[in-house]
Amino acid sequence: MKFFETIILGGGASGCMCALQAKGNVAIIDKQNRIAKKLLVTGNGRCNLTNLNAEAKFYNDEIVENYLKRFDVDRTLAFFDSIGLVMRHEQDKVYPLSNSAKSVVDVINNALKAKEIKTFTNCEILDIKIENSKFVLEGQTEQFSCNKLVIASGGKSVENFLTNYNIPHSTFCPSLCAIKTTNTHSLNNVKLHDVKVCAVTSDGKTKLDRGEVLFKESGLSGIVIFNLSSLFAREKNFAGKISIDLLPDLNNEEILKLLNKRRALKLEIPSFFDGVFVKEIGYEILNRCKLDENRTSDKLSDKEIEKFASVIKNLDFDVKGYYENNQVYSGGVRLEALSDNLECKNIKNLYFCGEICDIDGECGGYNLQWAWTSGAIVGKAL
Ligand SMILES: Cc1cc2nc3c(=O)[nH]c(=O)nc-3n(C[C@H](O)[C@H](O)[C@H](O)COP(=O)(O)OP(=O)(O)OC[C@H]3O[C@@H](n4cnc5c(N)ncnc54)[C@H](O)[C@@H]3O)c2cc1C
Repeated sequence: MKFFETIILGGGASGCMCALQAKGNVAIIDKQNRIAKKLLVTGNGRCNLTNLNAEAKFYNDEIVENYLKRFDVDRTLAFFDSIGLVMRHEQDKVYPLSNSAKSVVDVINNALKAKEIKTFTNCEILDIKIENSKFVLEGQTEQFSCNKLVIASGGKSVENFLTNYNIPHSTFCPSLCAIKTTNTHSLNNVKLHDVKVCAVTSDGKTKLDRGEVLFKESGLSGIVIFNLSSLFAREKNFAGKISIDLLPDLNNEEILKLLNKRRALKLEIPSFFDGVFVKEIGYEILNRCKLDENRTSDKLSDKEIEKFASVIKNLDFDVKGYYENNQVYSGGVRLEALSDNLECKNIKNLYFCGEICDIDGECGGYNLQWAWTSGAIVGKAL
């Protein structure tokens, strides 16, 4: 059995930050073949490492503010600068200047080497126990033990340990993911560039966002949908409705004016929306209005025009579930169960940082900021 004073379980964003801030000697264990590997896929391979506006309102719980204040965006940028990363901003989002997540992974690995931090890769921990006030970690081929344990394992991989040791946590639920819905088959691959989208849960909670939506074979995707998925994830129930306002800058009266102008064009009904929407969207509106298409547009009634306007403002889909391409998990160890330094109140010398905590943010660098913030707080406390 290998013994270390402190072990960090998980060499992802928060675990690496924790190790690099820690004064004493720590060892990192990770199941991947490379430390910080997951960062390579973040931000579509560009790693959106933080957001200049990382405030509590972009997270599920305002308690996050207390922690963000202690290791904020400026400190995060100063830290990455100190380990050699040159960065650039795209509006509020921060990326490496190289525009490649590899640069972030490289500087982190270089800094770990310079600090001579012991790392174990290809080493999945299957079980954690507490024996005689020491933590014992069962790997596939090796056993480890330590006096202090930092759990920085991301999503739900140590859920059993949390349950076995009564560590208060809420259910993990995929968040920032595409959403499965009804009725998108005929719209597969259609992209809407600037629409307003409203998500409503089955018990009436709502969330609005605006931007791009991409239709999938049986659901919806795109940044707006990813952000709205957090509403369902936090309710632990992917059920409700998604409604799309296809022309968010026009009010009902303006849409009626636009449609009435088109009515006079004597268009064949299947072509009525040509020039306004892509064909698939036009057909979808027509299908939902269920009208006689063997006419020209000048024969459309006022009621039919009003129905078009109403579908344009509210193209709705029933939510049926989520796709497994989630960027984070909502849920995790409750912050009330942890001290200001993220040490478990019930189990001394046990710390948590990163996604395993019940903090999740929107897309845009907020989740990695939480990983840096929480990792740094734990690292400094060790
Ligand atoms: C595709 C994608 C894109 C994303 N893009 C962004 C973005 O641009 N900006 C942003 O802010 N956030 C982004 N995120 C979210 C961000 O990656 C996470 O919030 C962040 O990585 C969480 O950090 P963490 O240290 O808590 O966990 P992780 O980074 O997931 O690290 C956990 C580590 O623990 C290891 N581990 C887990 N269980 C075990 C075990 N039993 N034994 C050994 N090792 C174990 C894993 O291998 C992993 O390396 C993205 C996520 C995904 C999936």
